[in-house]
Amino acid sequence: MIVVMHSGAEKNEIDEVLERLQGLGFQIHLSQGVERTIIGAIGDKTRLNETALEAMPGVEKVVPILQPYKLVSREFKDHNSVVRVGELEMGREKIHVMAGPCAVESKEQLMETAKQVARAGATVLRGGAFKPRTSPYAFQGLEEEGLKMLAEARESTGLKIITEVVDPRTVELVSRYADILQIGARNMQNFFLLKEVAQSEKPVVLKRGPSATVEEWLMAAEYLMSGGNYNVILCERGIRTFEPYLRNTLDLSAVPVAKHLSHLPVIVDPSHAIGKWRFVKPMAMAAVAAGADGLLIEVHPNPAQALCDGPQSLTPDNFMDLMSELGRVASVLGRVV
Ligand code: PEP
Ligand code: MN
Repeated sequence: MIVVMHSGAEKNEIDEVLERLQGLGFQIHLSQGVERTIIGAIGDKTRLNETALEAMPGVEKVVPILQPYKLVSREFKDHNSVVRVGELEMGREKIHVMAGPCAVESKEQLMETAKQVARAGATVLRGGAFKPRTSPYAFQGLEEEGLKMLAEARESTGLKIITEVVDPRTVELVSRYADILQIGARNMQNFFLLKEVAQSEKPVVLKRGPSATVEEWLMAAEYLMSGGNYNVILCERGIRTFEPYLRNTLDLSAVPVAKHLSHLPVIVDPSHAIGKWRFVKPMAMAAVAAGADGLLIEVHPNPAQALCDGPQSLTPDNFMDLMSELGRVASVLGRVV
């Protein structure tokens, strides 16, 4: 539930409400705006006399949150959240493009890609260092060596780094190198991983599972927020449908839906949704038109030689072309790339 305090509520009035709620075992999330204080309280409502709470000095109203996800919901917070990654702000006018190879393969491959995507206007470099694959015989990633290469690429380009964390035991290790932790689609409901990442202070990109409903996706985000990590960015990356031509079906309707139900920034990964590079550009533009706050795009200097996801990777030239066209779509919407 949300307790909205009067705009002139005194500090001691706010403290008394907090004490009452904490005494009843509620988890408190305080939002102190310029205008007024709003108290989010998550817990067992049957223990509470709502009328008595509403009668406390300084309280304007008590509003129940009807959705199963609480901290994630628009009912909890009606204005858009902005997630900060250093000096970058995700969820404002600027559409942040995170680009790079599926996997970190070598220093040369990563540096070359990093330079090219930075030149084209990306603000974040992507690259997987831990790559458990559908086949156990496929390339599995460079692990910590790959993380070190990402950190070096950050040093030389100024790009921020996003990389996937796949195992609760490596959250601390990956957090030492990454600016943003990525939770992969297959791990969206790995609740032990979510709980561990919730303890990290790093911003998180939470991918939607290939068969997850929007509600399940938001519930996964609730794990992160209720565990203490408020820096959550949702990422639509395609879902499984009956259509076999593409790798997945990009559910762009999930963008306005998630933004309607939640205050969190939403980005789109057209590369994994589509699986074929030639359709990445039109769907990236459509994602921006649908209201996405950012994009996650695979770029490889030589897609034919890529160890992972070559068919969906853009060449640096194709990425440059995409970025310039994206700028035109963004400007129509009053946004910038
Ligand atoms: C990735 O972005 O590297 C990845 C594995 O994507 P997904 O989790 O969406 O399949
Ligand atoms: Mn990939």
